[in-house]
Amino acid sequence: MARTQLQAARAGVVTPEMDRVAERENRDPEFVREQVAEGQAVIPANVAHDALDPMIIGREFATKVNANIGNSDESSDLETELEKLHAAVHYGADTVMDLGTGSDLDEIRETHVEYSPVPIGTVPLYEAVKRAGSSEEITTELLLEVVEKQAEQGVDYMTIHAGILAEHLPLTDGRKTGIVSRGGSIVAKWMEERGEQNPFFQIFEDLCEIFVEYDVTFSLGDSLRPGCLADACDEAQYAELDTLGELTDVAWDHGVQVMVEGPGHVPMDEVAANVERQQEVCDGAPFYVLGPLVTDVAPGYDHITSAIGAAIAAQAGAAMLCYVTPKEHLGLPEREDVRDGLAAYRIAAHSGDVANGLPGARDWDDALSEARYEFDWREQFRLALDPDRARSFHDQTLPGDNYKEARFCSMCGVEFCSMRIDQDAREAGEMRRLETETDLESSPAADVNLPPVGTHDSSGLAELEKLDEEALEETADD
Ligand code: SF4
Repeated sequence: MARTQLQAARAGVVTPEMDRVAERENRDPEFVREQVAEGQAVIPANVAHDALDPMIIGREFATKVNANIGNSDESSDLETELEKLHAAVHYGADTVMDLGTGSDLDEIRETHVEYSPVPIGTVPLYEAVKRAGSSEEITTELLLEVVEKQAEQGVDYMTIHAGILAEHLPLTDGRKTGIVSRGGSIVAKWMEERGEQNPFFQIFEDLCEIFVEYDVTFSLGDSLRPGCLADACDEAQYAELDTLGELTDVAWDHGVQVMVEGPGHVPMDEVAANVERQQEVCDGAPFYVLGPLVTDVAPGYDHITSAIGAAIAAQAGAAMLCYVTPKEHLGLPEREDVRDGLAAYRIAAHSGDVANGLPGARDWDDALSEARYEFDWREQFRLALDPDRARSFHDQTLPGDNYKEARFCSMCGVEFCSMRIDQDAREAGEMRRLETETDLESSPAADVNLPPVGTHDSSGLAELEKLDEEALEETADD
């Protein structure tokens, strides 16, 4: 009997999850099934994740955005983590990775899964380190135990650092920043100290058996991703990618869905080549990239440096973009950082979809442009990627309701408003008057594009909001 979406797709079965995804992306269910059957797309949907509204990750579909949240020993409580999940979903995350390394990991993870309408991803290695007490004490048995427990809890996809091998480590010697992946550095240290091969690599087929049972999707970690431009596209990065390609085949043989993680820090002119190489080496398995950051010089603005790389990657065929917040390299992100990071990445993802001609993607741009030209300020705010931000910036200088009808804003002022001047010229002369033409509601990409909440269905938000309010009330009572 088929247990995973991949097995069902191969057997010719269109599952309810595939039907839902087809509806959301306005695609034929049979096309969705084919993409999943060929490993070109994944539907991360753990059988135990009841609150999930299924979504799909693949280069033929709308580019998705992941938000990382999670606590650390320095900052840790359930209410804050719920608030972050809510913020991530509200601001448009298509999936959320819980990278917590602080306390109450089980309770936080279970609550996330219970209420999240989007897939939840984790990095099981972090919990294994906490439980073992130190990275050297980790055993393969413990890794399997942690992975199985998280699978049972309903986690939809897991980053598994199985691609970094003992023979790859010498290749990092000449690097400027060594191994910058958290999981990668832990696995490398473990291999060095024990003189053994990567524990995840050793137990990879056992992991496949667990993943099949719950339909957990692999997110094969790129432990040797470059941490600076100087280290990009080096021998170490590509040696690991070759191993990830081999592991993709092993997972597919077991009927497990796979996506592959990618860099990191990469100069602009090499981003597309990175995507093309992954697609070739991993036979089209969805590429899930972190940025990449296209320059190293802007701590505090790395949501921007990385969104530039992410937009290029999306155009080149990356299927999901892992957001980077302004706090990257500096500290744990707070709610406003989550908001800024998601805005930057939704811009990157949407820009890629427009450039790639995803059916209907540009309708959103056209509808907003028409509202802008019509001076329909309320519609402009409604359609904005971040409506609250757009409205508040406008109202900082022109707060009155009367300015919602104004044929100018404070940027150029009433006299120099070019759109007003153009409209007046069209009224007075021979130039054709411009009409509003876009019907956004009937756009082929309406369900994956419509603002303000990204590509996911917002139906789960009500539950999350209720939960947030309850948590806040409890905090106030304490
Ligand atoms: S004043 Fe300038 S920025 Fe504002 S609506 Fe007119 S053209 Fe656009």
